[in-house]
Amino acid sequence: MIKLFDTFTRKKRKFVPIEKGKVRMYCCGLTVYNYAHIGNLRTYIFEDVLRRMFEYNGFQVIHVMNVTDVGHLTSDADTGEDKVEMGAKREGKTAWEIAEFYTKAFLLDMERLNILKPTILCKATDHIKEMIELIKKLEEKGYTYLTDDGLYYDTSKFKEYGKLTGMTFKELNEKLKAGARVEFNPQKRNITDFALWKFSPKDKKRQMEWDSPWGVGFPGWHIECTAMSMKYLGEHFDIHCGGIDHIPIHHTNEIAQAEAATGKKFVNYWLHGAFLVLGPGIKMAKSAGNFITLQTLIDNGYDPLAYRYLCLTAHYRSELKFEFENMKAAMNSLSTLRENVRIMKGNLESKVNKRKIAKYKKEFLNAINDDLNMPLALSILWKVVRSKELNNQEKYELVLDFDRVLGLNLDVEVKVELTEEQKRLIEEREKARKEKDWKTADEIREKLRKQGIILEDTDKGVVWKKIHSSS
Ligand SMILES: [Zn+2]
Repeated sequence: MIKLFDTFTRKKRKFVPIEKGKVRMYCCGLTVYNYAHIGNLRTYIFEDVLRRMFEYNGFQVIHVMNVTDVGHLTSDADTGEDKVEMGAKREGKTAWEIAEFYTKAFLLDMERLNILKPTILCKATDHIKEMIELIKKLEEKGYTYLTDDGLYYDTSKFKEYGKLTGMTFKELNEKLKAGARVEFNPQKRNITDFALWKFSPKDKKRQMEWDSPWGVGFPGWHIECTAMSMKYLGEHFDIHCGGIDHIPIHHTNEIAQAEAATGKKFVNYWLHGAFLVLGPGIKMAKSAGNFITLQTLIDNGYDPLAYRYLCLTAHYRSELKFEFENMKAAMNSLSTLRENVRIMKGNLESKVNKRKIAKYKKEFLNAINDDLNMPLALSILWKVVRSKELNNQEKYELVLDFDRVLGLNLDVEVKVELTEEQKRLIEEREKARKEKDWKTADEIREKLRKQGIILEDTDKGVVWKKIHSSS
């Protein structure tokens, strides 16, 4: 049984798919006006593990992710600049070039983090027609009104507006009013109302704009995700994911749009990933200018998958504090695991106890199926690696099996080379052992240990492994 924590009901619920054997899930992707920061990437790693968990359980997953290449404004109140056009201005490129450049960079980051390619990756600018059709439906049903700067959604008309937040329409309006940082369009009827279609400014031409029944302009950010998710997954689908910052506005508005247009329940399970923080209450954010990219980690000598490992050490619903110290520890753990796999692989045995393997697999499955308890899953991996009751063959099979979900490439060839001097010392020690000169053999072993090389005497001869010091 798979249990997932659903934001809407605020509890763990048993997962029941709409169609047997299939999971349809939509994940909000990146706004491509800059590099993804590692806080964004934490969310995509969580979603990838979610997908892999379903696949491990034998489900076919239809994973749709969007790329927001237009319409995401710098302010949630539908004012401010379009982030992509702002990026264009900043870098002296066209908006289209900016979107293409950062989409490519995003895809590269995903690949480096071993995030499986979404079944469908869709760009907002390729789906303007679908968005206009959906807005027309909302207009026909009386949910919209015109202002000077665009066509808006009247949130007071949607009876259950705000239900994802657990607040009523009134409570949500009051909360937003109290927290409003910017002036909003005075023609808006409610502070929670949002733009479905924004008009291009009268005095200047936007780089990205389209004709619509309401005037030349561009779509609002929220309508993009609703139109694309429904196009590829249907009007009612299993799972919608994103970061927790999407709950009060973006996903709340998506529900309002979809359910008003179709009259059906939009999504069965809402899953949200917690923030990566830099300290108490300090969220990593591009707007705050305090963000770290994956490339920064790589430039500092880290394997991108060490960051993936770090993310797996915290539950996706808990904040994760980023520190380079933690990165170092994650890097060491990953290296140690790979080194262990290398040794196992070099000393495989032919006997396998199927019952023992099944016991560990079950433990692992229970952990991942319990709302993705990845810290527990990792501890089971370590238990296997360190086990005295399992032989190398059994360990190796289990590690490869678990890695289908962990995605850490544990079986990758680690290039650890011995120096000529170290090779000579190992030979010398073998010679001493043959001559039963245990004192010399032990001295050499100790000397190598100080250099980070551990020797193990097996019935197939001596094997070595490198331990990674934390310095
Ligand atoms: Zn979205």
